[in-house]
Amino acid sequence: MEQECIVCRYSVAYIDFTVPLTHAVRIYTIRCPRCGNYKMELLPPHPMEPSRVLPKEFTSELIPYFIGYTREQTILKNDVDIKYSDISNIAEYILRQSPKTVSEKIDKLIINISRISKYYGDLIEFNPEVNYPLGYCKNTDEVVKIIEYLTTTKRQYLKTVGSGVSLMVDGWDRIHDLSKVPLHSTQVFIAMWFDPTMDKIYKKIEDAVWEAGYKPIRVDRAHFTGDINDKIIAEIRKSKFLIADYTGQRHGVYYEAGYAKGMGLEVISSCNENDKQNLHFDTSHQNHIIWKTDDELHDKLLDRILAIIGQGPEKRP
Ligand SMILES: [Zn+2]
Repeated sequence: MEQECIVCRYSVAYIDFTVPLTHAVRIYTIRCPRCGNYKMELLPPHPMEPSRVLPKEFTSELIPYFIGYTREQTILKNDVDIKYSDISNIAEYILRQSPKTVSEKIDKLIINISRISKYYGDLIEFNPEVNYPLGYCKNTDEVVKIIEYLTTTKRQYLKTVGSGVSLMVDGWDRIHDLSKVPLHSTQVFIAMWFDPTMDKIYKKIEDAVWEAGYKPIRVDRAHFTGDINDKIIAEIRKSKFLIADYTGQRHGVYYEAGYAKGMGLEVISSCNENDKQNLHFDTSHQNHIIWKTDDELHDKLLDRILAIIGQGPEKRP
């Protein structure tokens, strides 16, 4: 049904919901010109306050970033399906990874315009009111100011023609400079303790990665010497994201996760319940998936990958 978007308040969005048998949540389907297409579980609205459906995590700081994130995932054709139990993790992730400075927003904006452009010179219809999330901007004003700036700088990234924008050679060059991380990789690096007691756990992680549509890879450090070797670095560099299970507190896992973060890769972390008090200080504030059984790890990991990274294209051979 067409109505105001529950997240961004855009006036003509398609919003609907279904109620699963448990009746605990509503599963909203949102198709909004501004914030994109996605699914999100929310609690039913309070009878006294029927217009408030978003949970407390949706602060005025989060909302523009959330809209930027869901719109970007829609452009990338990734399915976003946010479970109610994962909302605080997703909110934390989005706040952490969103562009904060104007320069970061400029980069995001031209990357997203390039993803919509079909060829060099393509003129994209750009309504700022609908398209400000392309730069993770706070509102229409901010994206208008950024576009004005981009058309007047010495390196001309963009030109505007009527209500359209088109990426210039300098803009495409900038995108090339930024693409250190392989955009189309489907490989996922798994960093974890190599021990026979962990074999069953590895199988479950592997299953979750394949089910999410990605190809898992792990490199057994035992075959190599040194802190972190060339083979491991090469495989991390080829990966789209990294999964780090800290159970057993191996130094290698900390190194590999740190290296991946340093090059801008997303890291999804997990740890067994019995070992969580041993997590090193520098990672203990992060949202680890804490698991008791291998099945629990599998389910939570699959949800987290689909929510944060989105469904990938790979099928298990
Ligand atoms: Zn919206």
